[in-house]
Amino acid sequence: MISGIAWDKTTENELTQMGTAAAVATSAETHTPRRISILGATGSVGCSTLDLIGRDPERYDVVALTAHNNAEQLARVAVEHNAELAVLANPDGYEDLKSALAGTGTEAAAGPDALIEAVERSVDWTMAAITGCAGLQPTLKAVEQGTCVALANKECLVSAGDLFMKAVDRAGAQLLPVDSEHSAAYQAIDPGASTAIERILLTASGGPFRTWTAEKMASATLADALNHPTWSMGRKITIDSATLMNKGLELIEAFHLFPVEANQLDVVIHPQSILHCLVEYADGSVLAQMSSPDMRTPIAYSLAWPERMWAPTERLDLAKVGSLTFEAPDKDRFPALRLAQDAMMADNGTTTVLNAANEIAVEAFLEGRIEFARIAALVADTIDAALRDGIAKPETLADVFALDDLSRGLARSLLSDKS
Ligand code: NAD
Ligand code: MG
Repeated sequence: MISGIAWDKTTENELTQMGTAAAVATSAETHTPRRISILGATGSVGCSTLDLIGRDPERYDVVALTAHNNAEQLARVAVEHNAELAVLANPDGYEDLKSALAGTGTEAAAGPDALIEAVERSVDWTMAAITGCAGLQPTLKAVEQGTCVALANKECLVSAGDLFMKAVDRAGAQLLPVDSEHSAAYQAIDPGASTAIERILLTASGGPFRTWTAEKMASATLADALNHPTWSMGRKITIDSATLMNKGLELIEAFHLFPVEANQLDVVIHPQSILHCLVEYADGSVLAQMSSPDMRTPIAYSLAWPERMWAPTERLDLAKVGSLTFEAPDKDRFPALRLAQDAMMADNGTTTVLNAANEIAVEAFLEGRIEFARIAALVADTIDAALRDGIAKPETLADVFALDDLSRGLARSLLSDKS
């Protein structure tokens, strides 16, 4: 059986690698093709995953590829990778997808139920790379298979972290973090010494506005905010990186993934994006993982785990990089980071509200309906309104979806009040 994440902070056990590698290693050694599905196959992470798979197609059988709306792109990658099935979450695109796949041998399906049925097809490995809380239900379905789930979607852990991690344990699934900082921490955590971890520091590039004044940031355009200095990513996470909300979401993600408490997690700005995470131990040792800022490294780690595979990324030339610099984040200019940190500390359901409000705010900014500075302000106002109305920590998934829904409603009404 393939194990859950390899440590248990609730019981304060030593980290134990729970005898898991065997199943995956056997498949890799005998070169039996691994059955894989990709949720969010047309996105930035999805495309990088397909890029790796396409370089060694004999090793993989592509089962299901999914996307939201883009029938043409989904059909193209499904044919290119000989997928069994292609699914659009939006049912409106079904006819386009069906005609694009006619005669190709790849089945077409669409709609939320079809998406869930696709995830239920038996696989060895699933990439969870849908963006936003929309990824929660399909990712949980993938977890229920009890095999490997490479987790790129961070919003599921922000919205429903405790419930999500319980589902991972129940299913005996192997969760492999794909977010570069979390992949780095996963690699730097010594399985025999989890109780000796004093602190985990996530690095952040600082985004395009690292050196901008608050006044200049207030009039930042969409193009300015999408101009990330080091990473190439989807639009939502790129805006989250400009507000530093992304780093806040990542702190909450790390809180659920790793054997530390909220006050042992922090952020350091590192503009070169070479060193992705630092794990500090009681004896003063700090272990870190470095690589060029290319998501194909953490994706390759999750794809080959527990082995390593070649990835077509730029090799680190430290002499060329010259210097690695670090600075403290400015939480006054980037209030989203403080909001996320406070929500994580509160541990009372506020992270679900934060995530929902942020999704609405980022969408409004991407659509040109609000200014950059209003993103964090709207999240703060939504949290205040939700706390005033009274919220409780979600105990069930139904609670999570209800709180997510309520928060989106609050954020939308606050948006229309001010616009
Ligand atoms: P993206 O916007 O490029 O792609 C998102 C994918 O999800 C697309 O295939 C899209 O069709 C699909 N999708 C979007 N909304 C959907 C919905 N409602 N239902 C079903 N499918 C839907 O996003 P991305 O940058 O690839 O990021 C994906 C996830 O990975 C996010 O949670 C992000 O935070 C996380 N992540 C991304 C990166 C990166 O480098 N891009 C790094 C770390 C973590
Ligand atoms: Mg990251």
